[in-house]
Amino acid sequence: MRIDQLITPQHRIVFLVALFLMATGNFSFFQELLRTYPIAEGNLLFVCSVGAFFTFATALFLNLLCYGRFTPWVLALFVLVSSQLAYFMDKYGAVIDNDMIDNLLQTNVHEATELFSLSLAWRTLIFGLIPAFLILKFRQKTLGVKTELISKGFVGGMLLILMVACVAPLTASYITFVREHKSVRFYSNPIYFSYSVGLNISKQFGHPKSNVLVVTAGDARHIGQDGKNQLLILVIGETARSDHFSLNGYNRETNPELKKQEVISMKNVTSCGTSTAVSVPCMFSALTRKGFNAKKSLHYENALDVLQRLNVEVLWRDNNSDSKGVSARVPYENFKNPKLNPACDEECRDVGMLSGLSGHIDAHKGKDILIVLHQMGNHGPAYYKRYPPSFKRFTPVCETNELSNCTTEQVINAYDNAILYTDYFLAQTIEFLKQYDGKFKTGMLYVSDHGESLGEYGIFLHGAPFAIAPKAQVDVPAVIWMGKNFDYKLEDLRPYENYPLSHDDLFCTLLVAFEIDTKVCESKRAIFQHHVDLKMPAPGGVKEAQ
Ligand SMILES: [Zn+2]
Repeated sequence: MRIDQLITPQHRIVFLVALFLMATGNFSFFQELLRTYPIAEGNLLFVCSVGAFFTFATALFLNLLCYGRFTPWVLALFVLVSSQLAYFMDKYGAVIDNDMIDNLLQTNVHEATELFSLSLAWRTLIFGLIPAFLILKFRQKTLGVKTELISKGFVGGMLLILMVACVAPLTASYITFVREHKSVRFYSNPIYFSYSVGLNISKQFGHPKSNVLVVTAGDARHIGQDGKNQLLILVIGETARSDHFSLNGYNRETNPELKKQEVISMKNVTSCGTSTAVSVPCMFSALTRKGFNAKKSLHYENALDVLQRLNVEVLWRDNNSDSKGVSARVPYENFKNPKLNPACDEECRDVGMLSGLSGHIDAHKGKDILIVLHQMGNHGPAYYKRYPPSFKRFTPVCETNELSNCTTEQVINAYDNAILYTDYFLAQTIEFLKQYDGKFKTGMLYVSDHGESLGEYGIFLHGAPFAIAPKAQVDVPAVIWMGKNFDYKLEDLRPYENYPLSHDDLFCTLLVAFEIDTKVCESKRAIFQHHVDLKMPAPGGVKEAQ
């Protein structure tokens, strides 16, 4: 068979349709792509490469879906659906993800008619109905199963090779694209929509929707006796590395505000994972790092569930992406939204999460209270965006998210300025708590979710497989402040500031802080325990790290 015979007319049509969909249905996609990678900053080659890559990927995807005489019908359907999706993406900036499909399925006739417009009708006609009609009218004869399959295999292989050829010369840029600019591909039409439909179907039917939650620490009980309630703020940091805190010996003053507070910095704490999606659910789980699995953990009660069950008033405030499922059953407030967060300029600032907290505390007088604040912190690679201008103290600063275009010094300056802002935020949190020091047993616990590589060994960002992750990604800062009524004193912890701890120890630390006793914690460590009765060996008796 000659090469041109290997590509059947059916597959030529498939490729033409892929080109047509890229050209007419991906305005939002290219708009997002160009916003993230402006041509003026020398990104022309990468933008062209991504455009070609997605065209080949779309052709491959359609190639896999189209068989024999069903081919024109499948193509017509995609052209029609894509024309509608493109309209809603371009007009409303909508992303057709799993949640959006749930919304669409729940849309009633009235809501649907409110979305109808003349421009939608025109667009459907020109980019949907007419091309779909042409595809069906000029459908090609099928050439028998064997010829079709050989052609499908050949075309599929060619498309794969072309996709690799797009990525190979620009691997570094593609890694940043996949890791840091996820949102761009949400606009790729019809690939992302098809993926979302698949996800939605697998969620509906794939594994039975079990609402059964495995009880954790079912025997947990409150053993506190004195009249005062706890008021604890737990700050979950983002991408802060331990060795960039001057409290931990960094040779640059990055903790000028915390230094003025009576705090203790635990200097030897490791994370559970190297990404937010793993570390955050893991640190609240009783499963520990070795037994942890993000999906599995969703079916187990976490520390917040146990606390809430024991009548602790739990509130999660988020200025990061979300809680990764941890706050599924407790009150949640999104502080990336300027409606709630009064401290939004270029972006919403972590300090805004303290706003309105007094009202929450006053409304729950007489209860133990835990407030979790999930920071934006040092989220990269655009560290320079993570602080207001007054925190631009270490200069010159890397002011692009393409870290490879900056010197190491510029990257570190931007990163350290963001640490300065976290330092300020934590000090503000402590100041906020001090006003409740008389009425509550107050305390603040801060721990980062994971660290960050800042160019050591040529590695940037985070997310390395845990087993081979550099120390910079797993050594996290942890800072504790305790009010005068808190059950433990800084002096109790001081001897342990170099003690090896990890995210695994947070679960029982929280329970113990709220004076909750459970068998689960008999074999686990908690920071707030006096070494005399607990698992912490006396200072000097530390032999093993974990
Ligand atoms: Zn993170």
